[in-house]
Amino acid sequence: MKVIVVGSSHGGYEAVEGLLKDYPDAEIQWYEQGDFLSFLSCGMQMFLEGKVDSADKVRYMTPEAIRERGVSLFEQTQVFALHSADHEIEVKDLQTGEVRTENYDKLILSPGAVPMELDVPGKNLENVYYMRGHDWAVKLKEKVLDNNVKNVVVIGSGYIGIEAAEVFAKAGKSVEVLDMLPRPLATYLDKELTDVIEPELTQNNVHVHGDQLVQEYLGENAVTGVKTDKGEYSADLVVVAAGVKPNTAWLKDELAMYPNGMVKTDNFMRSSADDVFVVGDATLLKYNPGNTLLNVALATNARKQGRFAVKNLEAPLHPFPGVQGTSALSVFDYKFASSGLNATNAQKLGKQVRSVVVEDDFRMDFVPKEENAYVWFKLTYDPDTKAILGGQILSKHDLTAYINVISLAIKTKQTIYDLAYEDFFFQPGFDKPWNILNLAGLAAEKQED
Ligand code: FAD
Repeated sequence: MKVIVVGSSHGGYEAVEGLLKDYPDAEIQWYEQGDFLSFLSCGMQMFLEGKVDSADKVRYMTPEAIRERGVSLFEQTQVFALHSADHEIEVKDLQTGEVRTENYDKLILSPGAVPMELDVPGKNLENVYYMRGHDWAVKLKEKVLDNNVKNVVVIGSGYIGIEAAEVFAKAGKSVEVLDMLPRPLATYLDKELTDVIEPELTQNNVHVHGDQLVQEYLGENAVTGVKTDKGEYSADLVVVAAGVKPNTAWLKDELAMYPNGMVKTDNFMRSSADDVFVVGDATLLKYNPGNTLLNVALATNARKQGRFAVKNLEAPLHPFPGVQGTSALSVFDYKFASSGLNATNAQKLGKQVRSVVVEDDFRMDFVPKEENAYVWFKLTYDPDTKAILGGQILSKHDLTAYINVISLAIKTKQTIYDLAYEDFFFQPGFDKPWNILNLAGLAAEKQED
């Protein structure tokens, strides 16, 4: 069997690993249009902050290593056409310009997404940058180290925008973050928690301006500022982190798609064409808390989808279990994680939810202050069934892993009553006899009495 995999980031990498494991005799061809195999944008912040000394280290594996394992790898080679009825693709070597046709028995596409450009005057000015991929990582690092860059405007206050803001603030730049939503991180955290994070950002020289509609990038050759409907902000550098669009234009005549260019797939990662599987950021996936399909652009999801494409390669036997949209981030001294529904996405999906917020020291009173920390936890649940639908946690202590419990609780349809009395360990070095998750369950139970 000949299997072709397109895209060398998370989804493509997982598919190749899965094929090597489950189909050791298959002929595997792997295509990547970029000149750097398998860059992980997730590691970009660590590189930009100097915790990893080279962008070239932020990857799953080297071309040599994967070739040694028997994979035919084609870098800087773009797959530009699909003829699914003939089981063929057309590919172009971007270095030589040579074009050729390849046939396949199975095709797994993980073409991912590219950062969304804002279609406003000045979008082609110098120093309007984006935060995704190896090339931008290298270019951004130059700006981090450039003392002439004093004012940075970041557009978008999702987790990528906040990562960019933190990088430049730590490098001593003044950072303004602009967003059309009223609060930073509004798609991950509700107001009770962003009210804690906003002063942390301000204290660290990151100023967030909500309700801003970007109208223009100012400047002659290089950008000098950003004009919004509310004001003007000086900039030596603009980093745009305002969402992504799928890399799927070349597939539009071959595969069924949504109007926004996301490829339609079923629960077995199959597209509308026979033997063509699509995974990762270019797809919607089963979103359990909303009982709907959603684009949840995370590496974790792309990898799981890659694995399920391989599991279902020959027959649709393994339905994808779905995701809860579980993610985490640090914001200077704070660490937060969230999973499932919050006020913003519940409203967007038209779901009725009810919530409780609990706050507490996470250890007992006798524990020395410097070893203790305050924690905020918000639990969201279905007002009718009392099933847990979401959770958000925030603390200066790293309690982010607690949210994985909530993710599993959502998936397995646990209720607030289950959470209130669930058997979580206690040890004074770690927590309290009533864990913060228990406390939230108890608060929800009281609210429902
Ligand atoms: P992509 O990563 O977009 O990769 C697609 C690849 O396919 C690219 O290399 C592209 O060049 C190649 N390609 C596309 N079309 C073709 C073609 N026609 N021919 C040949 N090659 C092609 N997720 C997390 O879970 N945790 C995190 O901490 C996290 N941090 C992030 C931080 C940043 C700054 C960014 C930008 C993203 C982060 N993500 C994180 C999200 C995560 O990176 C994406 O969800 C993930 O990369 C999606 O993987 P993918 O395989 O779908 O696509």
